[in-house]
Amino acid sequence: MKVLLDNGHGDPPITGGKHSPDNRLKEYVYCREIAQRVSRELTLRGIDTILLVPEKTDTPLKERVRKVNGWAKKLGSQNVVLVSIHNNAAGADGKWHSATGFSVFVSKNASSKSKKLAQIFTDNATDMGLMGNRCVPPEKYWVQSLAMTRDTVCPAVLTENLFQDNKEEVDFLLSEEGKKAITTLHVNSIIQYIQYVNTLNA
Ligand SMILES: [Zn+2]
Repeated sequence: MKVLLDNGHGDPPITGGKHSPDNRLKEYVYCREIAQRVSRELTLRGIDTILLVPEKTDTPLKERVRKVNGWAKKLGSQNVVLVSIHNNAAGADGKWHSATGFSVFVSKNASSKSKKLAQIFTDNATDMGLMGNRCVPPEKYWVQSLAMTRDTVCPAVLTENLFQDNKEEVDFLLSEEGKKAITTLHVNSIIQYIQYVNTLNA
């Protein structure tokens, strides 16, 4: 199993402009750091992991999708899993908002494995107290048409790691405690997913 970590966005000017109202958290910087931490932890545990977009420039979604599908074609789509890492935002008005919490997205055409991975994420986020004040859908994931999950041919989820326009959550996200929590959520969820796939194949 090869784990592909997609850190959302890149340097301005394309989508790199997404940031907290006070500019302390820049989404592309934060997600890059989390992806690197997750990659380190998984690699230490012997799990084959790569950063999909190590370059700093903003790689277009089409190119990201092309990279993922290239790996899927090479290794077999069931031997690859994609996690796209983001921070959520409640508004686009440069103001603080009250929405909090973790959420995970799959596409309408999601496979049962994508849904299983999303459910694992939500269960772990619930156990870790990261679900905030958003309602949780009964299936434990949100369904939305997003290129990274819709156009890729392997199991794939997109994680929205708390809100970059909620002040308390930005404080938490930027703390070492917060970075460790978001990293641990991804590491444990991916490991549990791999164990789940191994039981299917056994
Ligand atoms: Zn994003």
